[in-house]
Formats: sequence, structure tokens, C-alpha cells
Amino acid sequence: MSTTAVTAPVRNYRGRFAPSPSGPLHFGSLVAAVGSYLDAKSNQGTWLVRIEDIDTTRVVEGAAKDILTTLEAYGLYWDEDVVYQTQRHDLYAHTINNLNNQQLIYACHCSRKQIKALGGIYQGHCRHLNHSQHHSALRLIQQHAICQYRDLIQGEVHIGQDLAHEDYLIKRSDGLFAYQLVVVADDIDQAITHIVRGADLLEPTARQLSLFNQLNHTAPQYAHLPLAVAKPGFKLSKQNYAPAIAKDNPKPALLSAFEFLGLAPSPELVELSIEKMLSWAIDNYSLQNVPKVAEIQISQKLNSQATLFTQINK
Ligand code: GLU
Ligand code: ZN
Repeated sequence: MSTTAVTAPVRNYRGRFAPSPSGPLHFGSLVAAVGSYLDAKSNQGTWLVRIEDIDTTRVVEGAAKDILTTLEAYGLYWDEDVVYQTQRHDLYAHTINNLNNQQLIYACHCSRKQIKALGGIYQGHCRHLNHSQHHSALRLIQQHAICQYRDLIQGEVHIGQDLAHEDYLIKRSDGLFAYQLVVVADDIDQAITHIVRGADLLEPTARQLSLFNQLNHTAPQYAHLPLAVAKPGFKLSKQNYAPAIAKDNPKPALLSAFEFLGLAPSPELVELSIEKMLSWAIDNYSLQNVPKVAEIQISQKLNSQATLFTQINK
């Protein structure tokens, strides 16, 4: 078993797990849940769950409930009421107003096809066209381009200049608030200090950091966990048949998640209760021991007690 972490706890730590209810939890999302939970709890912090159901086109009925029941089966209890993005439209509208008052928003009438034809990165075509904002997609004038930031696990992260400077969407043409906007509005509103999530969000983080700046708010610390992949470049997802994790037999997957996060549990750990397994993990977890790679390939043996991981270098 690994030794107890020596780093001093962070004060007033507030972390969160923010699943999109597009299906049941699979091993990849369990890693994000357990990783954010252990990081919070090993810092005597508060751990929140936020259901990211803003993109109603991707929401699967019953998935949010199923995710919460699964978290409970894994002993991952949240500390405050669960927040649902679909119930927070006022907060997002308020955030847009704030940006609008700074004259940083413009309506864009370009189609995805047009932008793709111009190379895929938006070049600010509508910035000075003064389209009406009514029923339009909205973009934020990028004044705080972030090309580089420091991640607690992945180290120095670099973002392409074009992408960093893009006036990105904060409201979609179908009227839905965009992910970048709501995630930052929520993280500010919930006073999140640490964000531990999958490395598939390394690039969007640069935009989120720029939005924190724009809203005059200190950004949280970011720690991007290696992404669980089926093969290099392909994250576990419903599309590649990552199975939903078992609710009736949580211990093997929990043990695998501990290993994935750089803990060294002995196989006998599964003889303990879920609660005791988690408290062992809280005592032994250290962010320093999380593999500093962007992806880890999962073998076929998932959900058995002998999961094998192949590490893939960045
Ligand atoms: N809802 C996002 C997802 O499921 C995660 C967003 C976040 O952690 O910031 O991929
Ligand atoms: Zn446009």
C-alpha cells in the first residue's frame, strides 16, 4: 500500500463532479467522480455534484437519476444539494447581461458550414455587422486569450493561437446557452476552488480561464486526470460500448478506479465495506501519484479484479 500523502490540505476546498446526463456512468466517468471526490476529501473539502443538463438535445430521460443512484451505490455522497443547469437559466442570462454591458457580445449569423469552409476557426466575420441579438447565436469578443496555463497534473498546457483568440460561442443559434458560459457561471456561483476532471477538457479550459478573467473572477485550480480510452485517441463512451458500471457490485470498478488514479490498493481491500474502501483511499490518495499522462488505455478486463492499464504517453 502507498504511504500517506504529506502535502498540507488546501483550505476551504470546494470541488465538484459535473456529469452530463446523456447516459449511465461508465468507467471513464467513475474515474472523474472518484478523482474529484478523493481530491476534495483528502483536502477536507466540500464535494458537490452538478448535473450538466443544459444541452437538452443530449439529455437522456432518467439518466440524471441513474447517475445519482450510481454515485450512492459507490459511496460517493455529495455535501450540498445537487444543482441542475436547466434550473439556472436566470444565472446564465445574468452572466450574458454582464458581458453585454461591457459591450463584449455580438450576434453571429454564420452557419457551421460557412465557418468550416473558412478553416474551422471563427474569424470574427459578424463582429462589426451589428446583427440583432434576438434569436441569434452570440459570441464573446475575446480580450483575454489564454494560450498557456499550468495544470496540477498535466503541467504546462499550450493552446493553438488561433483557437485561443477565437470569439467563441456563449449562446447557440438554437437558443441554448453554450457549455463554456454555463460551466464558468456555475463554478463562480458555487465558489469552486478546484476542478478535477478528464483530460478531454484541456483545451476548453483555456476558454474558461479567459472567461473567469473577463468576469473579473479568480479562476479555480485545474487538475486534468488521464482520460480512460478504449484505444489511443478514443475515450470510453457509449459509442464505443463502454459498459455502464455495475450498481449491484461496485467494489471491483471502485478498486480499478483507485489503481487508475495511482493508488496501490491490495486486492483484499474489496473485503472491506465501500465506506472503508473510500476512507482507505482518502488516506492514501495523493495528486502527485496520479499518472501524468493524457490517456490510459483500458484492457478488456474491466470490471474484473485484474484490470490492466496501458499507459500512453502524451
Ligand atoms: N459535463 C461535462 C462532461 O460530462 C464535464 C464538465 C466539467 O467537468 O467541467 O463531460
Ligand atoms: Zn458570424
